[in-house]
Amino acid sequence: MVSNEREPSALYIVATPIGNLGDMTARAVEVLRSVDLIAAEDTRHSARLMQHFGISTRMTSYHDFSDDVRVESLLAQVHEGQSIALISDAGTPLISDPGYRLVQRAKEQALRVVPIPGVCAITTALSVAGLPSDRFIFEGFPAAKRTGRQKHFQSLLQEPRTIIFYESPHRILDSIDDMLEVFGAQREAAICRELTKTFESIHSAKLGELQTWIREDPNRQRGEFVVIVRGAVLQQEETLNAEVLRTLEILLESLSVKQAAALTAKISGVKKNLLYERALEISKARS
Ligand code: SAM
Repeated sequence: MVSNEREPSALYIVATPIGNLGDMTARAVEVLRSVDLIAAEDTRHSARLMQHFGISTRMTSYHDFSDDVRVESLLAQVHEGQSIALISDAGTPLISDPGYRLVQRAKEQALRVVPIPGVCAITTALSVAGLPSDRFIFEGFPAAKRTGRQKHFQSLLQEPRTIIFYESPHRILDSIDDMLEVFGAQREAAICRELTKTFESIHSAKLGELQTWIREDPNRQRGEFVVIVRGAVLQQEETLNAEVLRTLEILLESLSVKQAAALTAKISGVKKNLLYERALEISKARS
């Protein structure tokens, strides 16, 4: 049904469960059964899924280290009329998982790329965290080393949207410690662990409490994690960030306090009154 006259050949990007096999969609099973080849991140890992759903389609491996020759040879098969399904070990391919290069090259070659949507740990966690979900950003895995990780968090200090991270059991404690240090104990967050699995736990609290909660019990440090941090609630004071201040300071070198404040307000969108007060302080300090 996939590669016949009515359905032209395609590269299918197929989501699979992140734990609970009951989350596999009927469409995913149908597509995996009917394609000519399944490109899997780890064929041994995916063999269990195939067995469970009675899928006997041929599998080949595809991961981020696959070279260009491999990408092109897979796509050549689609050109020849075969359909290929890409799956990763869990969840949606390309989301912190292999597949980007394959999809990018397929699009460049005008091949049909078809999404077969399903579970993704990002949306699964966000849907139950109790944090604002109208605007959010996904930041992937924080850096492995402390300096890089803290820098990453610092760059997000003023981010107003809800921030989503993936984290591994090896680094969850260090990451929570650094989040606490950078975002502060009062920042709301959620630790979503082992989603859809037997020991699923979703704990939403302030970072200070979350640190105690996760340190209290080693079992809470095991498994797979999504950590969600509420975005910054920006006060007017906070919006006077480094860039706005720099603009104000430069303009004050050649304009009056009133003019510099008015112009900076126009450029940055920050309230004129606030800038006027700050401009006064700067000019007093300079005189
Ligand atoms: N492609 C996957 C997706 O759609 O979510 C993500 C793959 S990424 C290599 C694996 C990371 O996703 C884990 O380290 C964890 O941060 C998160 N993750 C995957 N499954 C999870 C689960 N059941 N519970 C919590 N986090 C999970």
